[in-house]
Amino acid sequence: MDCMTKREVTEKEREIWEALTGDDFSPIYEEADRIRQREKGDEVFIRAIIEFSNCCRRRCRYCGINADQRQVRRYRMSSGEILETAKQAIDAGYRTIVLQSGEDERFTGNGGEELAKTVRSIKEYDEDVAVTLSCGELPYDTYRNLREAGADRYLLRHETADAELYEKLHPCGTLEERLRCLRDIKALGYETGSGFMTGLPGADAVTTAKDLLLLKELECDMAGIGPFIAHPDTELAGAENGSAEMTKRAVAFARLLLPEANLPVTTALGVLSPREREKAFSCGANVIMKKVTPDRYKKDYDIYPADLQRTDIKRDRRKIEEMLEEIGRIPV
Ligand code: SF4
Repeated sequence: MDCMTKREVTEKEREIWEALTGDDFSPIYEEADRIRQREKGDEVFIRAIIEFSNCCRRRCRYCGINADQRQVRRYRMSSGEILETAKQAIDAGYRTIVLQSGEDERFTGNGGEELAKTVRSIKEYDEDVAVTLSCGELPYDTYRNLREAGADRYLLRHETADAELYEKLHPCGTLEERLRCLRDIKALGYETGSGFMTGLPGADAVTTAKDLLLLKELECDMAGIGPFIAHPDTELAGAENGSAEMTKRAVAFARLLLPEANLPVTTALGVLSPREREKAFSCGANVIMKKVTPDRYKKDYDIYPADLQRTDIKRDRRKIEEMLEEIGRIPV
């Protein structure tokens, strides 16, 4: 009860907090699964992620590739390499390409000119493929230019709805600025994705309740919810990881609050436990992301520690399709 006395908690937050920490969560899991079935059917969207640059100007304290991490081998994929990887993913059956990077002005400076060229070239290869960007905070005009180049969706997780905690963990930014970006993205007609980490040091179940209500307030079309995983080279080394159970509970609640949203089982949940990742599909999730980043770069996109296998774009997709079919879902 301690966390309830330290700060103001609304009735709605209290209701969610109590549900999230209750002993028997199974009725909420069942309700989330029913809503998922009603709104999204049995299809699960498999998205391909290309991590095209690990250069980043920001210093998020939990991140293994933040600008202070001197041991990181920095890379940028060339436009040709990004396009070649995207083509391989499209040819393997992926219908969404997610282009993800640190905040790297080489791609997003100058109105996002460089990145816009890449978006256009993917659309020229297959105009029906959706392009999702996840490249951080940008000026309104840059978001607009990228949208005009053909980008369909933008992912920018708010990470925590607690403004004080946000600023502790993100010395380069404020929650207010983050929300400005998310509102710009929404206003420009992108399908808008936010999301957050469960179990961040300094957060609790009230924070998670606030995070969930913020997703609702932003009217997110997508929401990525994953556990915090401590990176050994950051100042949060040794901190306790978030829990798989709280992550699944938060995903289920997100399904209740945002019935039509696309909710991925996040890669970070799979890092904690591949079995829990599969179970999240019965808690309201309907999307899975797969890295297709070439092997020569993949291990350097080291946001949090993960056991990475060699990439074989076709085989990896087939394995996910088989896993989904085994649990009675339809891979798309
Ligand atoms: S979390 Fe993203 S923005 Fe923050 S330091 Fe890492 S790559 Fe950069």
